[in-house]
Amino acid sequence: MASDDVPDLYPSEPRPVRLMNTIWADKAGTHDALATVGQLDRWVRQCGIPATGPLGEDDLLRARELRDALRRLAATAVNDERPAAVDAGQAVEHALATLNGFTSQSTPELRWDGERGFHRDWRFGVDGFGRELAALALEAGELLSEGPEVRLGACYGPGCVLYFYRSHPRRGWCSAGCGNRARVARHYRRHANG
Ligand SMILES: [Zn+2]
Repeated sequence: MASDDVPDLYPSEPRPVRLMNTIWADKAGTHDALATVGQLDRWVRQCGIPATGPLGEDDLLRARELRDALRRLAATAVNDERPAAVDAGQAVEHALATLNGFTSQSTPELRWDGERGFHRDWRFGVDGFGRELAALALEAGELLSEGPEVRLGACYGPGCVLYFYRSHPRRGWCSAGCGNRARVARHYRRHANG
């Protein structure tokens, strides 16, 4: 893979999950798909985030900061027990403060138009890529606060470190590939034990 290639793992996932999943793993170990500004640029385009001008190192730092916080919060939300996936070095309080730092750049606003009537929208105190990250943090907040039945899931496919959003209640894997690998592993375990 070229150095700026970002695997577009599962384009149907919501954007916060796609940001979480820029940490991914294969047989060689865990990889970070947001290691360079070029990779960030590629990821932004993959997610359909509007172009806001050239991205820089600061944008990369902030995207990674939000990503790491989201992974920590997701791990807490789903009681993630995958050692390779969870950044145990980051306290939940720290991750929350990071997320809230991003969302504090937005204010709810009531708007009206002839088509939709009154509706809630957001006004952002930042523009450019900062605004896009603030919007993404808002989406993540919605996703994490859906109530007792959190639809976010951690994939327990062998070696997998990805998260996914339950598009249907019984979905247990990030992908059919992980589901198959998990079934095969279970089969071998059963036979080894029996
Ligand atoms: Zn998986």
